[in-house]
Amino acid sequence: MSILVVGGAGYIGSHTVRALLDRGEDVLVLDDLSEGHRAAVPASVPLLEIDLLDRAATLAALSEHKPEAVFHFAASCYVGESVTDPGKYFRNNFVATLNLLDGMVQGGSKRFIFSSTCATYGEPPSLPITEDMPKEPVNPYGRTKLFCEQAFADYEVAHGIQSVSLRYFNAAGAHPSGELGEDHEPETHLIPLVLQVALGQREDIKIFGSDYDTPDGTCIRDYIHIVDLAEAHILGLEGLRGGRISRAAFNLGNEEGHSVRQVIDMARKVTGHAIPAVETERRAGDPPRLVGSSALAREVLGWKPRYGDLLSILETAWKWHREHPRGYGENTAKNG
Ligand code: UDP
Repeated sequence: MSILVVGGAGYIGSHTVRALLDRGEDVLVLDDLSEGHRAAVPASVPLLEIDLLDRAATLAALSEHKPEAVFHFAASCYVGESVTDPGKYFRNNFVATLNLLDGMVQGGSKRFIFSSTCATYGEPPSLPITEDMPKEPVNPYGRTKLFCEQAFADYEVAHGIQSVSLRYFNAAGAHPSGELGEDHEPETHLIPLVLQVALGQREDIKIFGSDYDTPDGTCIRDYIHIVDLAEAHILGLEGLRGGRISRAAFNLGNEEGHSVRQVIDMARKVTGHAIPAVETERRAGDPPRLVGSSALAREVLGWKPRYGDLLSILETAWKWHREHPRGYGENTAKNG
């Protein structure tokens, strides 16, 4: 039986497809290619080009293929945009996920591995964030992911779908082979933007807020390597297969925070470029500090991050951006 990777042409999805193939799994990708890249999906992997909001097509695909497990990465994931256009986020992240779950009910699929986020916690009472802390998202993006997690409990009771939600901190870095990496249009994430400045594709990096209550005034985030994230998803699948976990949620982070300024400084060292930075206004919806405890994932899933330091993250990301200055190369016209 196959594994369906929804959003498998995107950044985290494509790295997980690679990890599944490396283990000899039979993989199928579903992606509408609105954000994903055909070139990120190996030619040997069937690609179903379907929009999850097309409910009929989604139900038909799940009924036809009856995957043993579904990994779900397809989502809109820009915090700032979620504040200005919440409807898009509730549709793309929540309604789309319900369609997918209903397809699983029809097709009889029982295992669900979900791409969640630390944004479900909002502004935590203390750090590092543990899974039992209150979930009070401060932006619509976090709320839509939390709604999904809450729906999973009800789908398990009603339909026996067992789920694991992985709450990532800041996904970053690229596949060490240099063959897969981050390519968003538009790009809004700090590390790729900083590296685009190093490549001379942008003039400077804007620092969104330098008056936060943090040691250097800029926001602190917990950056986690994409290959380690992909690995955790596979462990989640194994946990579901072994009956060891169900309706579970795990943080995935490095338990170490880096400020925006620290990221820029390290990128200057890795790239050897000056990377001019300009301080600007805060971005709406940004909590000052997010650092997670991954003790539960280590203990229950046996997760052992291999690229747990910011240097490895930046070095692999730099290799990708340097070798693929136009990403997967399909957006040439859009990028101007
Ligand atoms: N950030 C920034 N300038 C940028 C993009 C991001 O200062 O051009 C900051 C942002 O405010 C946040 C951190 O970098 O504090 C990480 O942002 P990113 O968008 O990469 O991830 P998020 O934390 O929103 O998931």
